Amino acid sequence: MAAAAIVLSPVKTPGDYHRIVSPTLNIPTDVARPIPVGLLSCQRDPLLRQLDTYAVDAFPLQADAPKKPPRKGAKLPRLEGTVLQVILHDTIIFPEGGGQPSDVGYISVGSSMTLEVFEAKRIGGHAIHSIRFPTLDELQKAQLLLPTGTNVVVTLGDNGCRRRLDHMTLHTSQHLLSAILEQRLQLPTLSWSLTIHPSPCYVEIPRGLTPEEVFLIQEETNALVFEGRRVHIEVEELHVDNIPGVAKLDNGRPVGKALPSDYTGGVKRTVVIDGVDRNPCCGTHLPSLHNLQLFLLPHTEALSRSSTTSARLYFLAGPRLITHLTSTHNQITQASSILSCGAPQVPGRVLQVVEERKAAEKRAVDLESQLVSIVAKELLHSVTQVNGERFSAHVHRNDDPLVFLATIASEFTRLWIASEHTSKQYLLVFTSSPTSQTTTSTTLVLVFGSEDASVKEIGETLKLKLAVKGGGKGPRWSGKWTGVWKPAKEGELVDKAVGGVPI
Ligand SMILES: [Zn+2]
Repeated sequence: MAAAAIVLSPVKTPGDYHRIVSPTLNIPTDVARPIPVGLLSCQRDPLLRQLDTYAVDAFPLQADAPKKPPRKGAKLPRLEGTVLQVILHDTIIFPEGGGQPSDVGYISVGSSMTLEVFEAKRIGGHAIHSIRFPTLDELQKAQLLLPTGTNVVVTLGDNGCRRRLDHMTLHTSQHLLSAILEQRLQLPTLSWSLTIHPSPCYVEIPRGLTPEEVFLIQEETNALVFEGRRVHIEVEELHVDNIPGVAKLDNGRPVGKALPSDYTGGVKRTVVIDGVDRNPCCGTHLPSLHNLQLFLLPHTEALSRSSTTSARLYFLAGPRLITHLTSTHNQITQASSILSCGAPQVPGRVLQVVEERKAAEKRAVDLESQLVSIVAKELLHSVTQVNGERFSAHVHRNDDPLVFLATIASEFTRLWIASEHTSKQYLLVFTSSPTSQTTTSTTLVLVFGSEDASVKEIGETLKLKLAVKGGGKGPRWSGKWTGVWKPAKEGELVDKAVGGVPI
């Protein structure tokens, strides 16, 4: 996609991006042992697309293996098949952590076998790659090709690269946004969510922002983006005295997340945006703010918990911003085409259409009410033309909903009670079919009368002879019939049924 080219990151990560600031911390070189999470290639060189490394261990996923609960709204992996877990000496497939979802990618062994990694997770201090096989036999064959020390090539693939660029862009944007919110408005970030593509991500802050504040934060963050501030990583050993702490608000709510209690990698990692922010984080980050182009959705969404309130500020950046702009542009273009106006006139035209619809609805209600009165009067007139103590009729109409038929029934009953015929009995059946019918069309049936027993009897007859599905209570019975309603067939059957009832 040509449009995406403008946000592609530099091809190579600068040499001074990853800085080991402790003289005693080294990246393990024994290829039979895994490099801990915190020092992995995906964290040292986030733009690397391919890595030659070695297998350390491969084992089937145990049924009782520790599992983290799935992220809210996350697409669950397919459950069929069986999963092989692989530990490598090093990897460019980022294991889920710090709010950043897992990468996907491939592990190749020579030219004979390429395995698709659907997920990587950090367990303790290790990155565990998960690969799914349709059968245990195929899993075991792959496992045999991965003894410790086997040369493997790890790649992200096109999808993996796109996914990583999206995650990195948004994660670095979140650090920048949180830093500026803190510095300019003294608003700490309580939590954040790197949502599933293409939804906007959000930071949770203690209160909503005014439109002026949204504008200010957007201006400030993008000034740093245009400047292209550098980003780098500092790592050192993790000691008891340098474990990143978590501040708390007055109401006790923690600000952000602490280091996971099960992390055993032993590395403290700090993401630094030059002159702007220093933040402990395990995620992958772009080496510069260039091309981030941060966009804040110009509203905040209020959240209420039991005793506190907070707000979500939604944001977009990089490829996801382009996807968003493309889809919103397409939506507005479609809307302007439907409304036969230019895009800027769409809100005004929509308002006009809504107002016109309201007026039309009101007029339809008024006309329906007049129509109900006319139909009920005509019906009363025609049924009472027949001499006798009991009156009955079947009336077929088109496109009337059941509620409209029921309103006519009520009006008829009201007129009947007010008439001089109250000493007599009546039984009426309304049917209503769509003007244009197919085999799946529904014809509505409403039976009503002055004697509950007769209404029930007609309902039962229609059920039996016409297979109308329905039921009723007291003076009303309603049902539905599916198919093409023919006046000469189904209509006549109803006529007969109505005529056949001794009223
Ligand atoms: Zn982070």
